[in-house]
Amino acid sequence: MLTSLPAMLYHPCYSELDLPAQHRYPITKYQALYQQLLSIGVPVSAFSLSTPISSEQLAQVHCPHYIRSLQDGSILPKAMRRIGFPWSEQLFQRSLCSLGGTLQTAQAALKQGIALHLSGGYHHAFYNEGSGFCLFNDLVVAAKTLLTQEVDKILIIDLDVHQGDGSAAMLADEPRIISCSIHCEKNFPYYKQQSDWDVGVAKDCSDNDYLQTVQQSVQTLINWHQPDLVLYDAGVDIHQRDELGLLSISTAALYQRDLLVLQCCVDNAIPVAAVIGGGYQRNVDALVQLHLQLFKAAFTLYGSHFASKIET
Ligand SMILES: [Zn+2]
Repeated sequence: MLTSLPAMLYHPCYSELDLPAQHRYPITKYQALYQQLLSIGVPVSAFSLSTPISSEQLAQVHCPHYIRSLQDGSILPKAMRRIGFPWSEQLFQRSLCSLGGTLQTAQAALKQGIALHLSGGYHHAFYNEGSGFCLFNDLVVAAKTLLTQEVDKILIIDLDVHQGDGSAAMLADEPRIISCSIHCEKNFPYYKQQSDWDVGVAKDCSDNDYLQTVQQSVQTLINWHQPDLVLYDAGVDIHQRDELGLLSISTAALYQRDLLVLQCCVDNAIPVAAVIGGGYQRNVDALVQLHLQLFKAAFTLYGSHFASKIET
């Protein structure tokens, strides 16, 4: 049994972004998730404030020209439309902080076993272009940065309902980082990239079939790659109520999924850093309840009484 609590990374800027009215992105969910964790009694001191990644670090992984175009706003309107947010200085700064947060979550996992980021999962970002609400790819930036520092092999388990196309493309020539994406086959992105391990599940996939697919894939990949670190994208847009997901997975199965991924890492003594990933509902309270399942799973593994305060 692990002791105390998992490391948790957060920054208020995650929810600080001015968007047009009726924009479909649930930007308030980050702050609402943080508040919900505080409201069940998790102490403020359990959270670390994420700090922005440096431009130099970012330029090691993403195209410097692309970074500059997002920094100074010279990026073409067409490229911004593909991202899905209006350009702003705030958007760029928020992205840097979220990228730093995922990197710091991964570093915390290496020290503490399990670490959770109240943001992250920007898996549609490519080397020199963004897409689907993603400017830069936090998973790839964290993985590639750590590869040069302290670890030799990393496994990215991406269970967001959308394929991790940006991650797959950015990691195509990097055998030390294995990309795994289990997603809804008939969903965005319609042109899929090739991950090291892809499973495209059908829209009518049952809870049991989904969980079995996840279990087998995770166990197989851990045995095969024997990573020093797992980065886990725990997107909740697989849920039956999700407005963009197209799958019909229950809340109970969502919790079971998060528990089995974290448990599998703990059983194999592999540090795991999880990001909350995608999740789209107009009802932010209902959405936060789904993102909380990841925290419930981690709290359960830590034997923390906070687990029982989160309903499934
Ligand atoms: Zn998604």
